[in-house]
Amino acid sequence: MLVVMHHDAAASEVEAVCQTIRDMGYQPVPMPGEQRTAIGLIGNEGPVDDSQVVGLPGVAQVLHVSKPYKQVSREWKAETTLVTLGPGVVVGGRDVVVIAGPCSVESEEQIVASARAVRAAGATALRGGAFKPRSSPYSFQGLGKRGLELLALARQETGLPIVTEAMDEAGAELVAEYADCIQLGARNMQNYSLLRAVGRMKKPVLLKRGLAATITELLMSAEYILAAGNPQVILCERGVRTFDSAARNMFDLNAIPIVQRLSHLPIIADPSHGTGLRDKVTPMARAAVAAGADGIIVEVHPNPDRALSDGAQSLFPEQFAQLMEALRLIAGAIDRNVASPLHAELGIG
Ligand code: PEP
Ligand code: MN
Repeated sequence: MLVVMHHDAAASEVEAVCQTIRDMGYQPVPMPGEQRTAIGLIGNEGPVDDSQVVGLPGVAQVLHVSKPYKQVSREWKAETTLVTLGPGVVVGGRDVVVIAGPCSVESEEQIVASARAVRAAGATALRGGAFKPRSSPYSFQGLGKRGLELLALARQETGLPIVTEAMDEAGAELVAEYADCIQLGARNMQNYSLLRAVGRMKKPVLLKRGLAATITELLMSAEYILAAGNPQVILCERGVRTFDSAARNMFDLNAIPIVQRLSHLPIIADPSHGTGLRDKVTPMARAAVAAGADGIIVEVHPNPDRALSDGAQSLFPEQFAQLMEALRLIAGAIDRNVASPLHAELGIG
């Protein structure tokens, strides 16, 4: 249930609604917004009797949220959530944020060179996995804590905020110490104890869509994070499994406008895992921005042929620089802007 207050409702009226909700045995979540103050009710399992609330002073409307993922729904909150990754790097606003870097952190030289190259081309955040969820136990598993230290070094060198994956609860604590944003990968989208754990943290979370997850399931997973207290969630479309083996995954462009209608959380796209094929990454990245994605996360490697993971889908730095130019044009055509590191430094956004 969501109680929408009149825009001129007094603070005492908002508090009276909160107290009534508490007296009913539920928890009120006041949400002051630009256009209205709303008070959400959580802690119910079934429908809630609103008769004690509808007539209270200052109440404009009582809405019953029909979705199973209520706190992430647009019914619950009308304005798109803004998630800040670093000074001036905000996901969900007019800026299209580009997060780029290698699949895995491999060495100091590799991650620093990657960070410098993507920054020079205009990326505003650095990606790179230190804990890698690999399909084979014999594949490179990532450098672990050392990888996090190298990411912190690359951030120090370039100023780029870092986005890196956590695979379990203990790893998430460690990642939170180093990273600006904790990535939860496709394989862990439904790891509910991990979702709850990052929900208790104060760091932004990048939640990727599962390999065969529906959009509703993605949003319900995000709900776990919000329900545990962390509203800073960015969703990511990264392709799903289908019958067709022509590409690694089926990149679901539909998910972008669909999620934007259903949820206030920002959504970005990962054309690297969405296609698995280097020459398909650029067209699908362009398409994602044209479709309205709030950003992209893309794999770029200084020497993709030598990459320890996902080399076949990693862009060469020159290809990435060309892609950035195209994205600036596309973003401009839909009245958006590709965030630039210079703007981020100046805090212009
Ligand atoms: C990655 O970002 O390198 C990754 C493993 O992605 P996903 O979880 O989408 O497969
Ligand atoms: Mn990868």
